[in-house]
Amino acid sequence: MENKFRSLPGVDKLLSDSRIKQLGDSYPHDLLVDIIRQRLEHARHLISQDKPSPSTEEIIESICQRVQQLASPGPRYLINATGVILHTNLGRAPLSQETIAAMDEASKGYCDLEFDLGGGTRGHRNVHIEQLLCQMTGAEAALVVNNNASAVLLGLTALARKKEVIVSRGQAVEIGGGFRVPEVMKQSGAKLVEVGTTNCTYAADFEQAITPHTAALLRVHSSNFKVVGFAEMATLEELVALGNKRGIPVFDDLGSGCLLDTTQFGLDPEPMVQKSVALGVGLAFFSGDKLLGGPQAGIIAGKKQLVDKLKKHPMARAVRIDKIRLAGLAATLIHYLKDEALKVIPVWRMIAAPLPEIERRARVWAQEFGEQARVIDGESMIGGGSLPGDTLPTRLVAIGKQSKTTKEHGPAQMLAGIMRSQQPPVIGRISENVLLLDPRSVLPEEDPVVIQALRSAANKLQTKGKT
Ligand SMILES: *Cc1c(COP(=O)(O)O)cnc(C)c1O
Repeated sequence: MENKFRSLPGVDKLLSDSRIKQLGDSYPHDLLVDIIRQRLEHARHLISQDKPSPSTEEIIESICQRVQQLASPGPRYLINATGVILHTNLGRAPLSQETIAAMDEASKGYCDLEFDLGGGTRGHRNVHIEQLLCQMTGAEAALVVNNNASAVLLGLTALARKKEVIVSRGQAVEIGGGFRVPEVMKQSGAKLVEVGTTNCTYAADFEQAITPHTAALLRVHSSNFKVVGFAEMATLEELVALGNKRGIPVFDDLGSGCLLDTTQFGLDPEPMVQKSVALGVGLAFFSGDKLLGGPQAGIIAGKKQLVDKLKKHPMARAVRIDKIRLAGLAATLIHYLKDEALKVIPVWRMIAAPLPEIERRARVWAQEFGEQARVIDGESMIGGGSLPGDTLPTRLVAIGKQSKTTKEHGPAQMLAGIMRSQQPPVIGRISENVLLLDPRSVLPEEDPVVIQALRSAANKLQTKGKT
């Protein structure tokens, strides 16, 4: 064992290697020594466990890799060809050019985040966006925070702490990524009062549960699942009527925060913020980066008297939004103000993309890859906690031979890996050993990048086939 340890190269020897020396041009000596020590330690650990000792070459390779890894943590740009438009793992909504420009502008230097340029005095970070949100939603007041989870948490903490909040058993749900209604409720200090059953809850169930301690009636949009068959749910109209009768506000966690009518694209109706506000909910909560199509944010719109309480609560400070996303959100909202959302907000452009156009692009993609690729019918999903189970018809580029067996390292898996290793990476999905690429979740201006990746992948596959 001692001998094996001795076979490892010394720190100085590694430092004198040309590749490590080259790293020295960009990174400090101390960092390189530190990483060399870590890798040698790892090698010693392997030896002590009677595992084969890595060669000097392998150690140098692993040092270079480690430095590269540290210096490129991401998140980095990639192409989403999965056909899931709002893919939470891929960063949800891509942003419009104007939104990107506004965020760039706001990050350039100082800005009037909390400064009134007119009077030269202190301002508030929420004022500009509030006017815009009120205009777009019809609400009396609005507040923007870090994300929708924190918006709901703030609402419940500020207005329902140590009081009761009534929610249907069918809506005390998990949205994903750890957002569970009962747990958010617990964190806020509000007491969850579940009524009804998983599939059926009536307004009368809410009414019977009202006590002097009731702070709110909560509606949660079941944004990631669908109850089919025998199901009844008290409508928002009924809840608001009940709330008005008993002097209790309705909180509406909309999830996606849609401002446009989704039925014009043959989709199910996704609840719209304007509708909730018009019906008279006390507070509506929604995300900035789902169907709104902007940066991550949590938006609260509703009655002034309630929103004011949220603004003053200490937690508002803890969940406030930063200047860059605030600028981006405003730019995205202006698209709605100008009624150009369908034309310029990427998620809406993708939803509105005409099928013949998708088909045309799919044919070009397939042609670039070669004869192994064909164009087939398929379905795109909205994703990201909106329109569960609802799909849009699309055309897919399918590469590989279909088969039901799910071999771990099938050709589709290998090809998917090659596509992921492109610069930028291209992400597809695999079904029955076929790699599927959906042009719907790719913007047409990204096509040259996809085509480049397809060519390069086809080449790589050919060379692999020969060896
Ligand atoms: C997505 C979602 C949330 C969480 O929103 P984030 O912006 O991801 O924090 C909360 N409630 C519902 C109903 C959702 O769909």
